[in-house]
Amino acid sequence: MTSKIAHYQQVIIDTARRMANEQLVFGSWGNISLRLDAEKILITPSGIDYDKIQREDIVLIDQVGTILIGDHRPSSELPLHLAIYNERRDVHAIVHTHSIYATSFAIVRKRIPPVVEDLVQIVGGAVEVAEYALPGTDELARSALVALADRNAVLLANHGVVGVAAEITEALKICSLVEKTAQSIIFARLLGDVVELSQHDIKTMHTFYREKYGQR
Ligand SMILES: [Zn+2]
Repeated sequence: MTSKIAHYQQVIIDTARRMANEQLVFGSWGNISLRLDAEKILITPSGIDYDKIQREDIVLIDQVGTILIGDHRPSSELPLHLAIYNERRDVHAIVHTHSIYATSFAIVRKRIPPVVEDLVQIVGGAVEVAEYALPGTDELARSALVALADRNAVLLANHGVVGVAAEITEALKICSLVEKTAQSIIFARLLGDVVELSQHDIKTMHTFYREKYGQR
């Protein structure tokens, strides 16, 4: 188990560096977690910059947030991560980012509409905005769950993005795609009205993606 934990601590470090390199987060903001099994979750620590973070800094907690291994406090968004794992059995990785274009939608509290095929395949529809609550609170965890529903991304009002997936590279990819889509929509609106995909087409593409992905 120790080597498995060390392996996944390193996976989180690698993902955190990619997240920072892609400018999806700045400084020590944002966070990442990974569910190893029903009672073990790895999560980034609170307040350590991604260029300084070490494998040992990644904290191992149980399903209610008790620290099992680690010298640091877990991310302050721990309640959000625990609430999502508790509600969504299909989710095993969560990436939370503060990227610029997606946060622009979060600031005006407008959803990212389902207008691009790659986004709807992987997210399953629009990226809705959770009702505002202070960061790190149970209230934010609850409002995020409501807005997330059965999709794979949600915007936190005046804050950022949460991407959820069965595995960690997928969760990071979701945050990148949400950012790219937000940017595309802002430019598209300069050219004309954006056209949303139909619910039928969204469902077809999302189901196709999930089934194809499941076979790999
Ligand atoms: Zn945040």
